Amino acid sequence: MSYSVELPLDDGFLRRECPSCERQFKWHHGPTGERPDGAVDPAVYWCPYCGETAPPDHWWTTEQLRYVQERVAGGAIREIAGEFNRSLGRQRNSFVKFSMSYDEPEPPSALHEPADMVMVEPPCHSWEPLKIAADWPKPVHCLICGRQFALA
Ligand SMILES: [Zn+2]
Ligand SMILES: [Zn+2]
Repeated sequence: MSYSVELPLDDGFLRRECPSCERQFKWHHGPTGERPDGAVDPAVYWCPYCGETAPPDHWWTTEQLRYVQERVAGGAIREIAGEFNRSLGRQRNSFVKFSMSYDEPEPPSALHEPADMVMVEPPCHSWEPLKIAADWPKPVHCLICGRQFALA
C-alpha cells in the first residue's frame, strides 16, 4: 500500500529540519530553473546553520512526520475496512450481511506554510537558494557543498 501526502510549499520551498541542531530552514523543492544541466544531487546535504551533513531523507520536520503518519493511518484503516467488506460480499449464500464499521481518525488539519524566512543564494551554488531564519547572525553553509558564506 502506498499513499501520497501533499505538503505545502512556500513559493516552491519546502520546510526542513536539521537532524543535528534541529533548526529549521527551507530548501527549494526540486531543481530550480537556474540549475545547470548535468548537476548531480549530492549524497548528503549540509545544514546551513550548523554545517552538519545528513542524507536527503533525514530532514523531515517533527510536524511533517506527524502529519504524514496521521494521514497514512486514516488511509490504512479505510483500506482494511474496504477489503473486509469486499470479502464478505463474495460469500454468495450468506443470509446476513456484515459490514465492518470503523472510526476513522479525523484527518489532520492541513499544514500551513507561512513565508517566514529570507532567501539566500550561496555564491558557490547560486542555483540552490535556501530560506533561513531572518535573525540568523552567522555565516551560512551551502546546502550542496558546505562552504560557508557571509550574509550581506
Ligand atoms: Zn544543523
Ligand atoms: Zn556550494
